[in-house]
Amino acid sequence: MGRSAWTGYLATGAIAVAAYYVTVALDAPPLLRVILYCLVSASAAVAVWLGCLRNRPAAPLPWVLIGLSQVVYAVADGNFYVSHLVLHRTNFPALADVLYLGHYPLLVAGLVALIRLRTPGRDLPGLLDAALLAVVAGMLSWLYLIAPQTRSDAALVVKIVSVGYPMMDLAMFAVALRLILGPGPRPVPFFLLSTNLLAFLAADSVYVLQQLNGTYGAGNFLDALWLSGNLALGAAALHPTMGRIGEPARDSGPAPGPLRIVALCAAALVAPAAVLVQYAGGAYSGIPVAACACAVLFMLTIARLAGLVAEQRRLAITDALTGLRTRRFFEARLALEIARAARTGGSVAVLIADVDHFKSVNDRYGHPAGDRVLVEIGQRLRAATREGDLVARYGGEEFAMLIRDSGADDPAVIAERLRREVADRPVVVSGDLWLDVTISVGTAGFPLHGDTPVALVTAADRALYAAKAQGRNRIVPASPADGPVRGALTVDLERIADEVDARLSVHEHSRAVARWGALVATRLGLPPEAVHRTELAGRLHDIGKALLPCEVWTKPEPLSEPEWELVRRHPELGCHLAAAVPGLGEVAEIIRQHHERFDGSGYPDGLAGRRILVEARILAVCDTWAALLADRPYREPVDEERAVRELLSGRGGQFDPEVVAAFLDLRDRRLLGPPPLRDPRLPAADPS
Ligand code: GH3
Ligand code: MG
Ligand code: MG
Repeated sequence: MGRSAWTGYLATGAIAVAAYYVTVALDAPPLLRVILYCLVSASAAVAVWLGCLRNRPAAPLPWVLIGLSQVVYAVADGNFYVSHLVLHRTNFPALADVLYLGHYPLLVAGLVALIRLRTPGRDLPGLLDAALLAVVAGMLSWLYLIAPQTRSDAALVVKIVSVGYPMMDLAMFAVALRLILGPGPRPVPFFLLSTNLLAFLAADSVYVLQQLNGTYGAGNFLDALWLSGNLALGAAALHPTMGRIGEPARDSGPAPGPLRIVALCAAALVAPAAVLVQYAGGAYSGIPVAACACAVLFMLTIARLAGLVAEQRRLAITDALTGLRTRRFFEARLALEIARAARTGGSVAVLIADVDHFKSVNDRYGHPAGDRVLVEIGQRLRAATREGDLVARYGGEEFAMLIRDSGADDPAVIAERLRREVADRPVVVSGDLWLDVTISVGTAGFPLHGDTPVALVTAADRALYAAKAQGRNRIVPASPADGPVRGALTVDLERIADEVDARLSVHEHSRAVARWGALVATRLGLPPEAVHRTELAGRLHDIGKALLPCEVWTKPEPLSEPEWELVRRHPELGCHLAAAVPGLGEVAEIIRQHHERFDGSGYPDGLAGRRILVEARILAVCDTWAALLADRPYREPVDEERAVRELLSGRGGQFDPEVVAAFLDLRDRRLLGPPPLRDPRLPAADPS
């Protein structure tokens, strides 16, 4: 039934067209001709409405507009042929011309609505191709159809209406090209609709030419073009798949085929050819228009090329399966980000994640299921990172992330969040296949673990390997020494350090001291274990304060002597706390010594010179620097110049001169950065 409607319509229509030409040939009474002709154009209008009712397109607006335009067109036909052939009125312009011209805006609006449905995103290439062809058509239309009309000595209203036709045709042509060249489904009705548009364009153009040279006569071959165009439209609407024309394109369409390229080249060459034709014919008035068309075509061609280059670049840096960036892009960006961070004192973290036991997913459920898992994990990682961060597919089932200026969020915290993002809910491969997958993550950061992409990736990779070795589904941060992984008790102590920090300042004091301490230790060439000890002791150096009354060490006013006595006990107390954790004996000793002075006037033991552990001498400098730059309840921050002077004047007295030199060298190379601000999302310090 659905099939017979549109084919039956076409067949009946073809008989009507044949009958029409029989009446022409036999010179039958004009009324018969008029009736046959108008029946066909009116039938197309009726067919569009019937088609809408039968097929119920999801988005009816385009068809409503096209149907309306066809109604106007059919009325125009009726009016024109009755007055021409029956009443023998040949005045121009007439009511029919107003109706004919009026149908174009409706048709164009309908086509534009259709194109918008088919191309919800951007389709720049299709737009540029259509623009190129439309410019050529516009130029030809201007040179050979419009300009001759404007030059005639007819009345103004005649000129306006005569120019109106080619102008409207041009608008229709541009939109038709956009539709035909753009992406989107192409069911049978798409080709029928295209036939309608092209038949009308061809007939209209030839009609204007024939009018200009006086060869037009009603009943010539043009009527066949118009009539079959009408039939194509009616058949398109009656076709059962007419609604599919308005469905959105699934992809950006096929790459331009050879036919389109040849057509575009030929069209682009028409413009310079027109200049030559005008020149040869001595019609210089057309040369400016043709030259302008050349210029516009040139720019459109360049824009099209630029678009192709951009698209190729996008493809080159995009992983085809997951849509993430590629490894090459990641490594290039990482190098840039390290340079930027070195300049600004910022930080860069690298996270490498590997799917656990991924081979068994492939083996058990097949490669497509494995692919689906990779896509989903990529999406989750992307969604869980910030806008400026980069997520790349680093290898088969490995992902790499670049986190800029993680600030208060330790890379390990971010990594843990990503790990949970994957582990917390299963990946839905299909309706009945839900897979629990996990990832292991290794993290490393600039400047702590290196200052080249290779160094950072290697450090993160090594940490990832450690995570796998410890049982998978976990994160492991690289340590400067690749040393032992922090135990749970150490993590508790770090939490105490954070609490102390929170009561003293808006800065992350202990994290800063740890980071700088590790850098200075590396700079001084200490072995990896010592670098690691310095870092950890820096992180924990003030935990002893947690055992003292808070109101004493956060007091804004000067302390009394007994209060000083109390505060001076914090290195020992911190030492006791740390010493209680297995494996932190050496770290505890560094904490005990971090207030010793190089000249022996420090506390608690009055050690001097190299009798003080080098790690403690390093922390003394870093601690002072961080305290000077940060605000404290009892003191305003000072500027860096002043802080440098304090360090320099403390050489040999409070500080080890070698450590001061190393520290200032790192500062001059902008490797230190400002003390990080605490994450404002963390709870504020509780003064109780
Ligand atoms: P581990 O926990 O130690 O990482 O074990 P694993 O099985 O994940 O590690 P292994 O490196 O042995 O296996 C990785 C597998 O990933 C092997 C390879 O077939 C698969 N793979 C790599 N790229 C793709 C891909 O694009 N699609 C799919 N489906 N599988 C891939
Ligand atoms: Mg792997
Ligand atoms: Mg794996």
